[in-house]
Amino acid sequence: MKPDIEGLKAIVGKNNASDEIADLYVYSSDASVHQAMPSAVVRPKTHEEVQEIMRYADKNKIPVVPRGAGSGMSGHAVPIDGGIVLDMKRMNRILDIRPEDVICKVEPGIVNDELNRVLRPFGFFFPPTPSSGNICTIGGMIGTNASGNRAVKYGATRDSLLGMKVVLANGELVTLGTNTRVEASGYQLARLMVGSEGTLGVVVEATLLISPLPKYRAMGMVNFSRLEEAGRAISNIISAGVVPSMVELMDNVAITAVNKALDLGLPDVAAIVIFECNGMVKGTVDHDMESIKKICEGHNGTGIKVSDDPGEMARIYAGRKKLFPSLSKYREGLACVSLADDMAVPISKIADCVHEIHEIAKRNNVIMSAYGHCGAGLIHTKILMDPTKKSQWEDAKRAVKQVYEYVHRIGGTTSGEHGIALSKAPSWKEEKRDSLEMMRAIKRALDPNNILNPHKLMDAPDDWTTATALRYQVKGA
Ligand SMILES: Cc1cc2nc3c(=O)[nH]c(=O)nc-3n(C[C@H](O)[C@H](O)[C@H](O)COP(=O)(O)OP(=O)(O)OC[C@H]3O[C@@H](n4cnc5c(N)ncnc54)[C@H](O)[C@@H]3O)c2cc1C
Repeated sequence: MKPDIEGLKAIVGKNNASDEIADLYVYSSDASVHQAMPSAVVRPKTHEEVQEIMRYADKNKIPVVPRGAGSGMSGHAVPIDGGIVLDMKRMNRILDIRPEDVICKVEPGIVNDELNRVLRPFGFFFPPTPSSGNICTIGGMIGTNASGNRAVKYGATRDSLLGMKVVLANGELVTLGTNTRVEASGYQLARLMVGSEGTLGVVVEATLLISPLPKYRAMGMVNFSRLEEAGRAISNIISAGVVPSMVELMDNVAITAVNKALDLGLPDVAAIVIFECNGMVKGTVDHDMESIKKICEGHNGTGIKVSDDPGEMARIYAGRKKLFPSLSKYREGLACVSLADDMAVPISKIADCVHEIHEIAKRNNVIMSAYGHCGAGLIHTKILMDPTKKSQWEDAKRAVKQVYEYVHRIGGTTSGEHGIALSKAPSWKEEKRDSLEMMRAIKRALDPNNILNPHKLMDAPDDWTTATALRYQVKGA
């Protein structure tokens, strides 16, 4: 059924609901390979408006896809069944900041970096640090349990989330979780919403745990001529009891790409590891940096640079910071496509996994880089391929399947950071096969008419290449 656009305009105002083709097109894709057109876009300002929209959609069985910034990389906000895209970005107020309780309350449309800009004068920050922080919203971060390069110390969004208000599929408003750091009172329903990718409810308010800004920070960089040694060094750093605030790996494909794009002159080695420690006491940070340096030297790490100068630290991190856009420059004619992009593995298996990713890429005529927040066991990959060729999509599909089979075999998980949605669902359903029915039962209980972001996660199609149209023009063989 086509949504009643005049009825929706009556709820949110005439400028905040649209079924114009240009608007629908803009909301038909996110940062993934997928594309599907909605029938309407609606931009609520209050939780009461969200409740009214949900009551209308539930009564008429119209799909509703909550959307933050649309920076999800697996088709999270792509409306596979059409219906209403619910753009939450107008609900972007910071409701309360309570440094004395180390919490703040926000609406879901606030952008991560904007929240941190406001928290800074209070001496606090919201710790999950996604690279997309300048665009992604707190609602989207809750929906995907986002994290980032500091997850090794601070964890993911779930670790900084205490409670929330949620509008359910039938329009009911519920309060989940608490304002307190500990809670032992039954089902952890706020946690259930984390990572639920808009399938169980619409988050309209969140209570977040904030952390004091560290007073001191230092960063280092080390080269390895063998990937295995970089992997063993990372594993040793984490198991030695040092708590770094960042441990990032870049493989040779990543190094080549940033050198080409940014002319950084990084050494042509198998791997570079960047590490950071932060804290309130300079002596403690210096001590931890020295321990990490010694561990790296013990694994034949060379050319170690360490600095606490802000300019020098920015230079050390420059290649890693601009890595994602640089990958498209790796070779003329190849695009950098977000597929199999964020698996997590036991830390001791990082080097084996990076090696296997390269082998799988070679066998399947694509190029895959490996980099990421390896201190937390998180490996980012991207597939570099010619997206205009049909055969390359078949190559990518085989490579994705083989990567995940390997990741699962070594005890890893399909997504450590970005979530599942559509393109990771086939392999993730293999990984989670004995709990899919439990997830479906929860979904049925909370959303009996299956209107909230339907056909994602456990209900996503088994072939991601045909689940929706692809966002690329595929011309031929
Ligand atoms: C360049 C780039 C770098 C990235 N780096 C990182 C990174 O370092 N770490 C990381 O974790 N991710 C990263 N991502 C992925 C993405 O930014 C995150 O998943 C982010 O949390 C998505 O936020 P968003 O506001 O864009 O949400 P969207 O993409 O719009 O939505 C994501 C999911 O959350 C749901 N959702 C959104 N708002 C609500 C709400 N109010 N209530 C209920 N459900 C809701 C949606 O339905 C959807 O399923 C990156 C993406 C890009 C493009």
